[in-house]
Amino acid sequence: MPEGPSVRKFQLLTSPFVGQVVAKVGGSSRKINVNDLNALRLQDSQVHGKNLYLAFVAAEDPLGPTEEEALLQRETASEASSPAQGGQEQVCAPQIHLQEEGELQELLCSRSEAPDAAEGPGNWLRFHFGLFGSIRANEFSRANKANKRGDWKDPVPRLVLHFESGGFLVFYNCRMHWCSSPRADPASDILSVEFHRGQALDALRAADPICYTLLDQRYFSGLGNIIKNEILYLAKIHPLTPGSLLALSDLERLLDCAVQFSSDWLHSKLRGKGLHPQIYQKEQCPLGHAVMKETLGPSGGFKRLTWWCPQCQPVVLSGDGNPSLGTE
Ligand SMILES: [Zn+2]
Repeated sequence: MPEGPSVRKFQLLTSPFVGQVVAKVGGSSRKINVNDLNALRLQDSQVHGKNLYLAFVAAEDPLGPTEEEALLQRETASEASSPAQGGQEQVCAPQIHLQEEGELQELLCSRSEAPDAAEGPGNWLRFHFGLFGSIRANEFSRANKANKRGDWKDPVPRLVLHFESGGFLVFYNCRMHWCSSPRADPASDILSVEFHRGQALDALRAADPICYTLLDQRYFSGLGNIIKNEILYLAKIHPLTPGSLLALSDLERLLDCAVQFSSDWLHSKLRGKGLHPQIYQKEQCPLGHAVMKETLGPSGGFKRLTWWCPQCQPVVLSGDGNPSLGTE
């Protein structure tokens, strides 16, 4: 298996193509749909350990804000105006305005401490090289000896990326997977084929409110505030429900929603399509019920605006008949 230095060399071969758009694809890989890479822009190339990571983005409108950046900008604005009641009036009072700015600053600071890739699924392709794995730039590998049958057969590339400049990259003997971030542990990465469901279920079963656990990047890297809100709505679970009160089947369903929603989002992102949230930043759920909004998070921890529908996501009663909420 190529060690770190060889993988560094592979990265050097890829770096001249960073910023370029994929014009044509080829290759024999069945792990990913190679055609998904068509017309995407290679945005970044990184090495971590023995893996090479290439980031791809939809090629259109490279300078415009991405859909989740736009959504987050609105969330920040919304957070800034939510602490005080009466929304617009307070903007006129200068002292409150200053205080508001301070709060906004605080929010922005706490946001910058948030783990990477906390918003939306990533679009990183992870390459793991087999014993004879390699990358070539602008040339194909040629057979240097005949095989047992006496044929001079060239190695079959797993992936070929032709770029708009006319240059190309060829990948041999490697495994490829989409993932959320180069720093994510594959076992906790909801986009990774190595995502460990058992470990995730154990985390969700804790007595903590389920919406806190979902944002814990130790168990759910790649899962951010938008995904949290959407999957709790899809699974019809109230955000403050302690995980310990939910049936295993409910937790399984929530995990299914997380994995499905994230991979659907990734694929629509790669096709340059927008996200259409059902509950995130909405005033009504798709069934027309009024949506609740509150900033929720562990005490002393990172708090995020949370939207839920009290009718579609009812409060769960604990065994003694008391609502599980409102005790703090
Ligand atoms: Zn509803």
